[in-house]
Amino acid sequence: MSTSSTEAVLADLGQITDWQEELYRQLHRNPELSMQESETVAEIARRLTAFGYDVTEIGGGVVGVLHNGDGPTVLFRADIDALPVKEATGLPYASTKTAVDAEGSTVPVMHACGHDMHVAAALGAAALLAEHRDAWSGTYEALFQPGEETAAGARSMVDAGLVDAIPRPDVALGQHVLASPAAGQVGTTVGPILSTGACLRVTVYGQGSHGSMPHLGVDPVVLSAAIVTRLQTIVSRELPPGQFGVVTVGSLQAGTKANIIPDDATMLLNIRAYDTGVREQLVAAIRRIVTAECEAAASPRPPEIELYDIYPLTDNDADVTARVTEAFVQHFGPDRVVELGRMTASEDFSIIPDAPETPTPTGDSAASPRTRRPGPTTTRASARRCNPPCAPAPRPP
Ligand SMILES: [Zn+2]
Repeated sequence: MSTSSTEAVLADLGQITDWQEELYRQLHRNPELSMQESETVAEIARRLTAFGYDVTEIGGGVVGVLHNGDGPTVLFRADIDALPVKEATGLPYASTKTAVDAEGSTVPVMHACGHDMHVAAALGAAALLAEHRDAWSGTYEALFQPGEETAAGARSMVDAGLVDAIPRPDVALGQHVLASPAAGQVGTTVGPILSTGACLRVTVYGQGSHGSMPHLGVDPVVLSAAIVTRLQTIVSRELPPGQFGVVTVGSLQAGTKANIIPDDATMLLNIRAYDTGVREQLVAAIRRIVTAECEAAASPRPPEIELYDIYPLTDNDADVTARVTEAFVQHFGPDRVVELGRMTASEDFSIIPDAPETPTPTGDSAASPRTRRPGPTTTRASARRCNPPCAPAPRPP
């Protein structure tokens, strides 16, 4: 959109902020865990319908389509799920909710990642674009996805038939509130902005024995210790210097008593990279090291290695990001627009634009516009995200 049409669409922003803030507080008070967002989806669907959108609930999420003549099809995505975190903000609208998670445990629930803010902001944009159809033309798709925190939601919507349910977007945009660089600023980054990531569950087998007779068993604790140490060499010795990669062992479970050598051990790993090929290289190295260490330890059974929670790379298209950044500069002023740089966090947004039949070019982005997120916005400098005592300020300075 031109600067004048942007300002025309935003002319009534002051008239919607009251209901946006009320909705934000309502969502913050009533968070729902990943893939359980039924009340949130119903509220979003009700509002999109009232704005005049064609609304489809699909794969646990909801998408509203607004046809407005000739022009590009633009998808704007917000995520809507909350985290199993006990809120400690002390806010009058703090969550006291609990829910039963996928493992059957009752857990506290909090919008600790700001997705309630995303819903309120995206619904505001949907309302203003519907209100001022005379200021722009094309097709606008307001998409609200479940289950971002578990990497399940974008996949769920795609698997349920999202590609056939809505016009194929020429551009897909996403955003995230952040705690830095400063409240009231917005930021973008060209190219990889968020890493691709994955988790691995590694189970290795030993042979149980009494702790006083280690020579009669195969100790999976010692085996695991060797694996954890050796895994540290993947990034330091196998990746080229300067190539980003992370291999973290976040959990190591084995045994129950001091004097019993257990039968097995389980490790949970997390990996990150700015290149899908590097991610695959990390996985291959982990498989090789785990298998070889098991053989070296005379493990009686091959290890089991399961890959899960795979996040795609978030790789911003240069042309789209340049246009969004310029629009930010025109509207907010250059002092409020910053270069964010890469972040090692991950998210599943790109599964939507990368779905089959959606353009995912490698190289010629001008001829085949890639659908990417331009980058997060920031709302509050003092808050760390995903943290019990923190929530974004509805009105940054
Ligand atoms: Zn988030």
